[in-house]
Amino acid sequence: MSRLALLLSLVALPAFAQQDFSKVEIRSEKLADTVYMLVGAGGNLGLSVGEDAVFLVDDQFAPLTPRIEAAIAKLTPKPVKFVLNTHWHFDHTGGNENLGKAGSVIVAHENVRKRMSVENFIEFLGMKTKPDPRIALPVVTFTSDVTFHLNGDEIYVQHAPSAHTDGDAIVHYRKSDVVHMGDIMFNKLYPFIDTSSGGTVEGVIAAVDRVLQVTSEHTKIIPGHGPLATRADLQTYRNMLATISGRIGEQLRAGRTLEQVAASKPTAEFDAVWGNGFLKPDKFIEMLYQNLQKRQQ
Ligand SMILES: [Zn+2]
Repeated sequence: MSRLALLLSLVALPAFAQQDFSKVEIRSEKLADTVYMLVGAGGNLGLSVGEDAVFLVDDQFAPLTPRIEAAIAKLTPKPVKFVLNTHWHFDHTGGNENLGKAGSVIVAHENVRKRMSVENFIEFLGMKTKPDPRIALPVVTFTSDVTFHLNGDEIYVQHAPSAHTDGDAIVHYRKSDVVHMGDIMFNKLYPFIDTSSGGTVEGVIAAVDRVLQVTSEHTKIIPGHGPLATRADLQTYRNMLATISGRIGEQLRAGRTLEQVAASKPTAEFDAVWGNGFLKPDKFIEMLYQNLQKRQQ
């Protein structure tokens, strides 16, 4: 996607359209000997550096690529050899075109390549996206999982079916004891689940449960959005999502309308912590209602 096309596609989404990238700084946080979390605008990045190669998880927005590269250059003289996209959304893949041109090998679940290749409509956000140019597309795709043996680590990438989208990957830096959740986890803000891209709340909860099984209280967890998390934060997130979606699902099965469900305030005790982000409580209730409704059909 050219910068112009990217900007045009962003106009449909006020939250991002108003974003002024000129003020964005990329901050790095060291999580283990070879693993960092980078935060700027858009999805949080994961970075593995060391003796073998630079392995980057997600790449935010195209205008930020030079700043992301500068932040990486402070940690290693090597170029980015691999980019792993956790899913197709533009705030995680916007740098693909620049990095692809610079020679990085882009890797993702096969549905990421499929969705990036065509025009998409994110129904809940009323947002159209244009097909990406060939150079921005993943050149290596997988269906179930793939492992990168780099920098003394075993970086295990596993598909999470029908979660935030239909092409999510969770990245487990096994030796470093770090997990990158992609947008399967939003920390301290209500998560977006992209129903029109094949996402389901059940899939998100199932993916979280799998991560809870293979981590410990020492594991550092990079959420797609929000601050660095612990396993306890992930458990809290899971409980919030299961409680609220359980309440909404029960009322939906009883034939209640969205207005009736919203009036019952199914998010009430969670709003103070989770309701001040991208999705306000009413939008989050509407999103879950529609997501669960689609499952019933
Ligand atoms: Zn996303």
